[in-house]
Amino acid sequence: TSSSNHKMLKAYTLAANFYSHLLLNTIEGEKALEYLEKRGFTRNEIEQYEIGWSPVQSDALSALLKRQGFDMKEMETAGLCFHKEDGSGYFDRFRGRIMFPIQDDNGATIAFSGRRLEDSSSEAKYINSPETPVFEKSKVLFNFHRARLNVRKTGKVVLFEGFMDTIAADRGGIGNTVAVMGTALSAHHIVKLKRMAKKIVICCDGDSAGWGAAKRFADQLMDSGMDVLVATLPDKMDPDDYIGQHGSDVFSEKVLDQALSYISFVAAYYRRDKNLSVDHDIKQYVHEVFDELAHRCSPIEKDLLIQQLHNETQASKESLGQEFTKSI
Ligand code: ATP
Ligand code: MN
Ligand code: MN
Ligand code: MN
Repeated sequence: TSSSNHKMLKAYTLAANFYSHLLLNTIEGEKALEYLEKRGFTRNEIEQYEIGWSPVQSDALSALLKRQGFDMKEMETAGLCFHKEDGSGYFDRFRGRIMFPIQDDNGATIAFSGRRLEDSSSEAKYINSPETPVFEKSKVLFNFHRARLNVRKTGKVVLFEGFMDTIAADRGGIGNTVAVMGTALSAHHIVKLKRMAKKIVICCDGDSAGWGAAKRFADQLMDSGMDVLVATLPDKMDPDDYIGQHGSDVFSEKVLDQALSYISFVAAYYRRDKNLSVDHDIKQYVHEVFDELAHRCSPIEKDLLIQQLHNETQASKESLGQEFTKSI
């Protein structure tokens, strides 16, 4: 119901304030603040994104919510706490984590992603709020409400895998970026992206998971009829790492502006795990690329693709042309 949704939003706002206060003004938050500063966050940015710290104490937020008169069962549904098995009360979902509020299209906080502090720890790196009546992952794009105007102005939206990448880009003045919360791109997301811009640049992490995500995003967005470009990164780097190392101007010029066409990206995707001095790999590469692209290519794209494969594999253009025709 709308009154219970309203209460969840109020609880999330209260929680965000609580976490933010702990990060910025208490000894408990010092380590997290140090960590964020090491990662390049300024105080201003921390305030602007309302980043916080969830205390290690097991029921700090639950106790606060209870004192403020919130219905604790509702707070459990909201994903802020769990009930104890012995019925003696509630404990917090997020404990000892850096808290990143996730906002809806109007800028209201509807969820959190909590990051663990130590990269070595065995706990999950991120814990997110569960799906609730006000937080449907398949509908939320991180930074959407901030990016919207910039996207309209530039006519182009950049899609990342991680919300940290969006924050890093924003820091460097690149304001037209959004991120999915998790790895799947839903039909809802696509409608949203399409309404904002005709052109999309996908930029996922440089590892295998990132290439896989980029491929899935690119296929889905091509099917939706958007103009799709895919920017690629060196192995083991994500946009945040790259911006931290080279700055956002270099990221714009060397990564975003050099984004590959869908066709070149698909070729690069299949080339990744091949050794093109081995005959078997050449055959497989050519097949995979043509199977997927032959029916999509315009005559000029066909010429360019065959030229590229010829350069990469030394196979003759004639035989490549024959393989191409077979694959249509
Ligand atoms: P960091 O720079 O802090 O390591 P990242 O943005 O590079 O973070 P990735 O590991 O690349 O994080 O993951 C990208 C996105 O995938 C995250 O923003 C998060 O939404 C999601 N994700 C990653 N790990 C987990 C996890 N263990 N549980 C839930 N979601 C996760
Ligand atoms: Mn990753
Ligand atoms: Mn990453
Ligand atoms: Mn990262």
